Amino acid sequence: MANIRENLEIIQQRIEGAKNRAGRQHDHIQIIAVTKQVSVERTKEVLNAGLIHLGENRPEGLLAKKESIQDQAAWHYIGTLQSKKVKKVINEIDYLHSLDRMSLAEEIEKRAIKPVKCFVQANVSGEESKHGLSKEEVIPFIQSLEKFSKIQVVGLMTMAPNTENEEIIRKVFRDLKELQQEVMKLNLPYAPCQELSMGMSNDYEIAIEEGATFIRIGTALVG
Ligand SMILES: *Cc1c(COP(=O)(O)O)cnc(C)c1O
Repeated sequence: MANIRENLEIIQQRIEGAKNRAGRQHDHIQIIAVTKQVSVERTKEVLNAGLIHLGENRPEGLLAKKESIQDQAAWHYIGTLQSKKVKKVINEIDYLHSLDRMSLAEEIEKRAIKPVKCFVQANVSGEESKHGLSKEEVIPFIQSLEKFSKIQVVGLMTMAPNTENEEIIRKVFRDLKELQQEVMKLNLPYAPCQELSMGMSNDYEIAIEEGATFIRIGTALVG
């Protein structure tokens, strides 16, 4: 297994390259280390390398890691969240990246003890295998969240299709950015929507060129 610090150094160089190409030298891009497939020990190495944002996609994995990791960390839930699991995790996380339906919002409202920073997940590419709201559904959905006191829409999240075609990937990220601008224009106090969670191991440079503020990296970092 490759050394995490070495992987991180390569990733950081590529991030800088993408920022420069996009004229984003002064923007801060948060790396979320996606640790869903690795052990507690490997996750501790991530923290020792200086990263603090960790991404998990199953309640069990998240809770097990939280229990054995005392270091300061920010916990991101990046997977589909079943409503019946909300109670278990919602007060254990710092960000939810997969808000995609009203029933989930209702359950969060019921279970959260303080406002939760949420990304609304959009399925921009329209692939059937992907979770998330269609482009057309995103704005009406966000408007309908006004009645909830425990939901704060900090941004939008998407996953690009699994393809070698860079232009297709780029278009998905560009569309998400456009959608984010539309949400920001609404000036909703509960939905500042300043963040864009997009880009994974294979496409984070494109995502940064198109405006990502959080990238979610698993295999390229810990694989
Ligand atoms: C697993 C996962 C990632 C990380 O994917 P890699 O290709 O390993 O970087 C990012 N986002 C989500 C939602 C994931 O499930």
